[in-house]
Amino acid sequence: MKRIHSLVTGGAGFVGSHLCDFLVSQGHQVICVDNLITGKLENIAHLRRHPHFRFLQQDIIKGLPRFLGLPRFLKDVAQGFPRLLPKADYVFHLASPASPVGYMKNSIETILTNSIGTYRLLEYCRRKGARFLFASTSEVYGNPLVHPQVESYWGNVNSFGPRSCYDESKRLGEALVYEYHHKYKVNARLVRIFNTYGPRLNENDGRVVSNLITQALKGRPLTLYGDGSQTRSFCYVADLVQGLWKAASLPGTEGDVFNLGNPQEITILQFAKTVLQLCGKRGAKIVKKPLPQDDPIKRKPDISKAKRALRWEPKVSLKEGLGRTIEWYRGRIGAV
Ligand code: NAD
Ligand code: UDP
Repeated sequence: MKRIHSLVTGGAGFVGSHLCDFLVSQGHQVICVDNLITGKLENIAHLRRHPHFRFLQQDIIKGLPRFLGLPRFLKDVAQGFPRLLPKADYVFHLASPASPVGYMKNSIETILTNSIGTYRLLEYCRRKGARFLFASTSEVYGNPLVHPQVESYWGNVNSFGPRSCYDESKRLGEALVYEYHHKYKVNARLVRIFNTYGPRLNENDGRVVSNLITQALKGRPLTLYGDGSQTRSFCYVADLVQGLWKAASLPGTEGDVFNLGNPQEITILQFAKTVLQLCGKRGAKIVKKPLPQDDPIKRKPDISKAKRALRWEPKVSLKEGLGRTIEWYRGRIGAV
């Protein structure tokens, strides 16, 4: 049987590395492209010797080197991205910093990765007939005025602020997906991912899950931004990966948009208390810090469409997923 070829950009990152694991386990030949701007080699260390996995350290917004002696079959596409694979069946475009700290530090790179990078990958798919999945974000809804957020909601986004590099470049990436699908019939879709967590979430990237768990395990006060009344809905990474695969592979998904997230909404204060409880540090201090500019007040996905069209919904509860995540951090930090 013909082996399926999948290209995963951002494959050395948190979500991308779990997606690579899943695709390899399904028998795909996987090429992971990552410039390691926020990703880590250790996330894919266990895959490096796998015969069906290849890692290419490469920035998708720069030129790609000749790779593995494969033929140059698309000379006219700038910087040779298509030389990477003879033909990919699937392209999963996950490259982009995702944490507010990460994308604010790498703001211009984030804009270019979600725009030029998305353009290049869509060009590749147009020419080779590959299926395309773009990892968009709940941030396209900004500070939402509709709750929970449904795919048809246009969002409330500040186009000129510290989060704009991420929110607006994802929105531009979405527009590119729309155009390539409608103009060139590219088999493309996008998913709007809501806050996702799990093992391999970078402990230094400033997200609430990594910050609070590492602070709790190290016996430090937990940093709560604002009064903690803002809400988020946290999805365990294994659930998300199932959703990514279904959105990419099921018939009838092309040209569509799917929210992927766990609708269990929780205030950040309640989240902090849950982390303390699960880490066995109930008495630890919580210190308040200023709420960052444009920090969304509430966020919860409406996943009716994914349930209906993908037959997908998250299975892992917050307590179970956090428990597994804490164990992973505990192993790294060496805390009791
Ligand atoms: P991450 O930072 O762990 O992974 C992103 C990966 O992309 C990193 O390995 C990074 O090195 C790589 N990368 C960035 N720019 C690149 C470039 N120009 N060329 C090659 N590689 C590049 O983030 P994540 O949490 O795994 O997020 C993965 C994707 O999912 C992102 O597109 C993000 O916007 C989206 N997303 C994630 C969440 C979440 O909660 N984790 C929520 C919404 C959307
Ligand atoms: N947050 C917090 N303490 C932290 C880090 C984040 O209270 O140490 C808050 C942050 O202000 C936001 C929420 O937790 O309201 C989620 O932040 P995160 O950076 O994880 O993701 P976001 O959903 O904002 O992209």
